[in-house]
Amino acid sequence: MKALLGGKGANLSEMSRIGLPVPAGMTITTEVCTYYYKNAKKYPKALEGEVKANIAKIEKVMGKKFGDLKNPLLLSVRSGARESMPGMMDTILNLGINDRVVEALAAKTSNPKFAWDSYRRFLQMYGSVVMGVEKHDGEHHDPYEKILDKAKVRAKVSDDSGLNESDLRYVVEEFKDLIKKRAGVAFPEDPMAQLYGAVNAVFNSWQNDRAKVYRQKYGIPAEWGTAVNVQAMVFGNTGKASGTGVAFTRNPATGENVFYGEYLIDAQGEDVVAGVRTPKPVSKMAKDLPSSFKELLKVRRMLEKHFRDVQDIEFTIEAGKLWMLQTRNGKRTGFAAVNIAVDMVKERLISKEEAILRIPAEDLSHLLAPVFDSGAERKAKKIGSGLPAGPGAASGQIYFTAEAAVAAAAKGQQVILTRQETSPEDLRGMIAAEGILTTRGGASSHAALVARQMGKICVCGAHDMDVNYAKKTLSGNGVTLKEGDFLSLNGFVGNIYSGKLKAAPSEVIQALLERKAAARKSATFKKFNQLMSWADKLRKLGVRTNSDTPGQVRNAIAFGAEGIGLTRTEHMFFEGNRIDAVRQMILAEDDGGRGKALKKLLPYQKRDFVGIFEALEGRPATIRLLDPPLHEFIGTMTSAQISSLAKKLNVSPAFIKRRINDLHEENPMLGHRGCRLGIVYPEITKMQATAIFEAAVEVQKKKIKVVPEIMVPLVSYAKELELQKAVIDEAAAEVREKYGLKASQLKYAVGTMIEIPRAALTAADVASHAEFFSFGTNDLTQTCLGLSRDDSSSFLPDYQEAEVVDNNPFASLDQTGVGQLVEIGVKGGRKAKKDLKIGICGEHGGDPASVKFCHRSGLDYVSCSPFRIPIAKLAAAQAALE
Ligand code: PEP
Ligand code: MG
Repeated sequence: MKALLGGKGANLSEMSRIGLPVPAGMTITTEVCTYYYKNAKKYPKALEGEVKANIAKIEKVMGKKFGDLKNPLLLSVRSGARESMPGMMDTILNLGINDRVVEALAAKTSNPKFAWDSYRRFLQMYGSVVMGVEKHDGEHHDPYEKILDKAKVRAKVSDDSGLNESDLRYVVEEFKDLIKKRAGVAFPEDPMAQLYGAVNAVFNSWQNDRAKVYRQKYGIPAEWGTAVNVQAMVFGNTGKASGTGVAFTRNPATGENVFYGEYLIDAQGEDVVAGVRTPKPVSKMAKDLPSSFKELLKVRRMLEKHFRDVQDIEFTIEAGKLWMLQTRNGKRTGFAAVNIAVDMVKERLISKEEAILRIPAEDLSHLLAPVFDSGAERKAKKIGSGLPAGPGAASGQIYFTAEAAVAAAAKGQQVILTRQETSPEDLRGMIAAEGILTTRGGASSHAALVARQMGKICVCGAHDMDVNYAKKTLSGNGVTLKEGDFLSLNGFVGNIYSGKLKAAPSEVIQALLERKAAARKSATFKKFNQLMSWADKLRKLGVRTNSDTPGQVRNAIAFGAEGIGLTRTEHMFFEGNRIDAVRQMILAEDDGGRGKALKKLLPYQKRDFVGIFEALEGRPATIRLLDPPLHEFIGTMTSAQISSLAKKLNVSPAFIKRRINDLHEENPMLGHRGCRLGIVYPEITKMQATAIFEAAVEVQKKKIKVVPEIMVPLVSYAKELELQKAVIDEAAAEVREKYGLKASQLKYAVGTMIEIPRAALTAADVASHAEFFSFGTNDLTQTCLGLSRDDSSSFLPDYQEAEVVDNNPFASLDQTGVGQLVEIGVKGGRKAKKDLKIGICGEHGGDPASVKFCHRSGLDYVSCSPFRIPIAKLAAAQAALE
């Protein structure tokens, strides 16, 4: 249903089916949108007739006629894609009005103020959306708002709803002039022409800049298209017994089970969301509109029971009668997602499996993000407060426009986007910012809902503060900050501080990694833990960690890692003064010299492996042999470093420089690296293998089980692995001999990374020498796409913009291309060895979509950095259920 009718259309029809009051309407399907784009923006032939027939049906149900001069029907025209894209596409309300219809509406309702208010609203929306008369670049204020402000000054009122009929007639004339002047033509009077103009505009808005940015961020395919919902208007602006509001059936920032939202009396829906007037919290409706409020609470219960999820609703009360205009699953923060899902299981509204499926795995990162250090926060200068719309703690430099925020973030600054209110044009700035502050608007303003969804820290509607765009200042509580000054936001409670505050780890991190008792008792941690235990029971994929030090390994285990999937041994080469021995090994011109240096390195490596094996407490450890090109260890040396090393090694600086030159490669990523080093210098492999085995012997003596898995990098030919395995086996035999051990007393496995297409394509041959495979998808992506992992970030954003790629292929696996190599590799490997253990250790191992792909491809485990482990586990459980 949603694919065809869009989310809004499908849910409107569902609400009407369960007996809720929904204004009559029709949905023009997403198929029409797809047709429109495939056929040079033309409609299918049948459309015109169907639109006419359906308008006739709407007219019949509502007892009004479109364009009629006695009892006119007005329509709303709204977009509605398969996934909701709040505020990204266009909406036109009060359609069907013109100079004559407005008089008819005034006469019929005996409410000329309402009729003229609807007319001015229509002109404002139609003018900007359909005719393109909008705020110019660089204009801070909307031209329509400027006219409205002028009218309010003339009428001496502070609020739009204070304007009377004659004020509104003035506004209508001014709007018409504005449109004619800027668009070059007047707006169309004919209601049918208005309708097609609006439908075109909604379809066209599928390809507007902000919708594209949004689709990129959320990976929504351009082919989906949007539907258009055409519905009879109901009016919240007919007087004091009318109103409009938006609400969530539970708090979407924290997940608390309270009705949460806001409303305005005598207003239309856009007023609430646009943040122009400040709405009242929905609890106050009990006094203002008691019977509608009671009905609304009933609707809240019905909707949660029917949709079995938190609903984000829009409603209008027209002269005391409640109408439901929209319901959709509410977007929520990671905190709320976990809270709500776990609560709903307890309330028996959903099953554990559904709870697992509901939480976007990536959103668990919200629960791991830092909070402010409580001491620092107590001492900080509070300069204002607002609504806590996006939980978390953010410090950064303030910027007042999206462009300035993007530019500052590109320079590496942490940015707080600071606005009176945000609009969809600010999307890029919001993406670039750490945190968002607005001084106007409520908890359902644009800023709040977009921030919530992006997981941005946000405080909105800080009415006690003032943003001055002209002077580029933010002031509150006697303090004035300029552009670029530091500000801190506590998005849990809505406090705003000047300066940069010290951050502290989140409750979950305090509980898991610091084992703090208070944090372990917190509700957030308990729910997180509950969720992880459900995920652990459901998932089939193992979850390991990419860790190089004992400290990282301990963190990873606290997060639930089941072993190491990748230790990059070269990372240990840089520590302390061992880099000298590494450089000595590289500079050596003969086996003798190299042997001496390797002897120095062996005890260092052994000590590292002892630490890692101990931290693992019996879990398996995949240790990869040296991978990067040797030039990486010497190419960046300064003259001072060269002189000092020359002295230590008793060689001349000129010799070192010559070796640096000798080893230089034009394309080191495809050069002498990975197992190619071990093939040319088997003694390096031998040293590393010996260090691993000696460490294993030492740790086993302490009655700690050790499961070493030695992994050979960058294999293309089966022969490479065969040769390296022989060196490793020889090292093992020597260590067994030295300590008098039987084979069963020193066990190990040898396997390979699959990071070169040739290895994937010839996986059956490679597997004949391997006991396991691990897909190194960083290099496999690089080599499959011929795309440098180090250089592509300069143009990949343009590729995303042009929709060549939906995602960065180094962050989320290119399933259609690189994914085929993974599948071929799995198939080939298991053809040779049925039980071949297969994992992934590229960055993709912590990306939810890629984790799910790994599950479907039959991998045994994924491996990722410690902080991604909860995300990988949740994604793995979801994959098992999908
Ligand atoms: C890989 O290529 O995916 C991998 C894990 O190895 P590295 O990132 O160290 O090249
Ligand atoms: Mg690699």
